[in-house]
Amino acid sequence: MNKGQKSITNSIQNILMPMEVTGISQADNEGTHLGTYAVDLTGADCGKSNAYAPVDVECVAMDTKNGNAVWWQSIAPVRFANGAIDYAVFMLIHDNDMTGIHIGIKYDQGTQIGTEGTAGYATGNHIHFEVAKGKFSHMYDKNSQGTYHLPNNVPVEEACFIDDTKMLNCNNWSWKYTKDIEIITKNDYDVINVGDTFRYTAVYEVNQVLVSTDSIWCHKLTGDGGASLPAKPLIKCDAYGRTTINQVFMVGDYFKFPTDKLTCLGKDKATAAIQFKLNGKLIWGYAEPAHKE
Ligand SMILES: [Zn+2]
Repeated sequence: MNKGQKSITNSIQNILMPMEVTGISQADNEGTHLGTYAVDLTGADCGKSNAYAPVDVECVAMDTKNGNAVWWQSIAPVRFANGAIDYAVFMLIHDNDMTGIHIGIKYDQGTQIGTEGTAGYATGNHIHFEVAKGKFSHMYDKNSQGTYHLPNNVPVEEACFIDDTKMLNCNNWSWKYTKDIEIITKNDYDVINVGDTFRYTAVYEVNQVLVSTDSIWCHKLTGDGGASLPAKPLIKCDAYGRTTINQVFMVGDYFKFPTDKLTCLGKDKATAAIQFKLNGKLIWGYAEPAHKE
């Protein structure tokens, strides 16, 4: 990734390789990484290159006695390079400078969160890097080879997309790009039948607001001439799906549906729409963005 880079697909942030240029000086299950998926990242040269937040992150733990280890957890569930969607935890070690890093600090995807260094027992500037799937629970596990590692760590190539990162010496690894993400949309008109339950799971944009009936329109869900959606059960959020404190809808805002399942009450083949009730009101919505549950 480049400094400041953002990557989001279908409202879910994609985990990016945290450096602009990446070499791997010690691979997983090698040397001091025995039995783990840890890798040592180096930048363009022997100097100190920066690492950027692979997704929006919050600092959840630090260990300044052991190489300045820092644990960052994703703010929301994110997309791993193997397609899994879950919280992610990143452990970075050896930064000599802890300025701007403390538990509770949050950084947006693409913001600098670390630098190569030699803190602890490091030979030459690098970043010891591990990624785990799921929320942070504790700092270390020790495996049967005696190696301390990030709990639930996963292979880096299964976690990080390498969009816009120049890979130096590990091009034969099975890296993935976000352009290869398959967005599954098979839950459409032909799959959802009357009586089936479904949900609209993405984040949608408010295209019109009608204050007098406390309702909104979303072209993607109901088209131009379709019924308005009662605003009341809908949840205003940001583009990443994070609920906002202010719940008053304006044109251009984002919203999501509550987690309750909707029931398909009718089908219209001509418009590929399905009928459902929202807050007591009958609505025809497009089947394509719906997901059968
Ligand atoms: Zn290492």
